[in-house]
Amino acid sequence: MYRMKLVSGNVFLACAFLSLLLTLSSCSKVPVTGRKQVNLIPESQLVEMSLTNYGDFLKENPPVSVSGNADAALVQKVGKKISASVEQFLKDHKMGDRVADFKWEFNLVNSETVNAWCMPGGKVVVYSGLLPVTKDEAGLAFVMGHEIGHAVARHGNERMSQALMAQTGAVALDVATQNKPEETRAIFMSAYGAGATVGALLPFSRLHESEADKLGMVFMAMSGYDPAEAPIVWQRMIDLNKGEKPPEIMSTHPADERRINDIKAYLPEAMKYYKP
Ligand SMILES: [Zn+2]
Repeated sequence: MYRMKLVSGNVFLACAFLSLLLTLSSCSKVPVTGRKQVNLIPESQLVEMSLTNYGDFLKENPPVSVSGNADAALVQKVGKKISASVEQFLKDHKMGDRVADFKWEFNLVNSETVNAWCMPGGKVVVYSGLLPVTKDEAGLAFVMGHEIGHAVARHGNERMSQALMAQTGAVALDVATQNKPEETRAIFMSAYGAGATVGALLPFSRLHESEADKLGMVFMAMSGYDPAEAPIVWQRMIDLNKGEKPPEIMSTHPADERRINDIKAYLPEAMKYYKP
């Protein structure tokens, strides 16, 4: 009897806590897909955290200077085009607040790693090892559009909330940061697909991957790149995954034939945004 009371008491407390959390957190809709989401962590806290972590990452991995380097210049060019069309699109759809705090940066770092990621606040890193796989400007635009898609859709926030609960038992970011700074930093890095540096891996879910593919295709199309390039790039990535050195990006962005088919199925929709 006593035990039952205790259990129901705990359930009651948990429910009360959850409803309080839901009241404090913000409900919103993901641009383009319209999926409803609940962000438990204020996005502004994550943007703030990204400034420190992005800065630390670049200190350890100095970016390639744009002057005199065609690859670094290309990363900047594609990034600027995509961020400009994303900002315009969100403004037109009264969702400009999603990127209001963003201070975009697009850096190329020298590494054989086949990877790219975008932290909240629009802090992008492309590894030079990715470029032979993306091959041309449109291919790069899709992968960068996809990573920017994860950030604009606030997937990191959803992933961060889940991982914080599971690994530190805290839901509030500031509490976790104060009590377990190293763990919290590692969770942050892996929540944004930059986890390889700290050894923690957190693959994006099929839902997040599929959503980022759609956003990536729409974002590249709006920026003047043919979205028909998207399935071709992922196919190259899948082929590479069958070889001796699987690309890093595939461990956080799982891809298979079904994903290619989903991308192809979405192509007519993405073409509606295409401005050649
Ligand atoms: Zn992804």
